[in-house]
Amino acid sequence: MIDIAEIEIKSGNGGNGAVSFLHTIFTEFGGPDGGNGGKGGDVIFKTDTNMSTLANFRHKTKFFAKNGQDGSSKKRSGKNGDDLIIYVPCGTIIKNKESDDIMCDMDKPDMSFVAAKGGKGGLGNFCFRSSVNRTPRRATDGTPGEYFSVILELKLLADVGLVGMPNAGKSTILSIVSNAKPKIANYPFTTLSPNLGVVQHHGKSFVIADIPGLIEGASEGVGLGHQFLKHIQRCKILAHVVDVSLDDSIKNFDIVNQELEKFDKDLSKLPMIVIANKVDISSDNQISNFESFIVGQNIKLFKISAKKGISDLEDVLNYLLDVLQKLI
Ligand code: GDP
Ligand code: MG
Repeated sequence: MIDIAEIEIKSGNGGNGAVSFLHTIFTEFGGPDGGNGGKGGDVIFKTDTNMSTLANFRHKTKFFAKNGQDGSSKKRSGKNGDDLIIYVPCGTIIKNKESDDIMCDMDKPDMSFVAAKGGKGGLGNFCFRSSVNRTPRRATDGTPGEYFSVILELKLLADVGLVGMPNAGKSTILSIVSNAKPKIANYPFTTLSPNLGVVQHHGKSFVIADIPGLIEGASEGVGLGHQFLKHIQRCKILAHVVDVSLDDSIKNFDIVNQELEKFDKDLSKLPMIVIANKVDISSDNQISNFESFIVGQNIKLFKISAKKGISDLEDVLNYLLDVLQKLI
């Protein structure tokens, strides 16, 4: 999946210390002058708020920082190896592949994390001179860099997650309220990828995600939902879209809620609004049944027809903007 990538990283080896003695025309065996090895480069992850996928890591998978250079004569130290910076989208989790431990949760802009430290440079023989040994032949080698594989996992940072049964109208709503353009369209699994859109409303903006594939059994990995539920874990509010033209609307509402809870208890505790969609083809009875069910639960309900376009969604957006601003 595009939101998971595996890469190999290696920090640079430290350069070796040198064994060398000063030679001049006047001194055949001068003092020791072997310089120290340089430090190996670190592998550093940094967040880049302009990135929104891990697509870059599909082709390039090896990231090796430069080795430190060896020391040399005349007490010259080897040059330090350059650090290697790897940019990742905000929200990327870095895991050690072997242990599965989370090394860092890159959840803030301008975050920086040293994942692999460069090896230390060795000491040249100049460092080992002493009153008892004026001609040390000893130098130490640099220590090796670290080499391992990491898994990058990106949870998209949507503010609002659209959940609901397939066919409820989520994609339609997203396309109306946002500039969602399928950035991930040319990747495999395209139809299964969550669609993110930026909503601009009254001079403010927020990110809304259409999470397809939430179907019965999704939290157990049946079907496709499980992968995508991951993407909405960081939402601040859920908008639950329900097709009220179906007699099963209440049952469907419950099924989706149960799936959310099974997948992640925290997720199911998020504030939720309900969008009763397709009122244009629903009977008064279907609408009022569903409405009385929701009203008893102290949940904000909007009755709309996404088919009608933005006019019906204006109130929804006002409300979401208001809630999000209070949450920040
Ligand atoms: P999703 O699976 O939840 O993303 O649902 P879609 O947005 O793909 O919509 C499923 C179908 O319902 C599409 O054929 C839409 O055109 C239709 N649809 C969405 N909203 C409405 C609505 O308000 N009224 C009617 N009559 N059809 C709708
Ligand atoms: Mg859809």
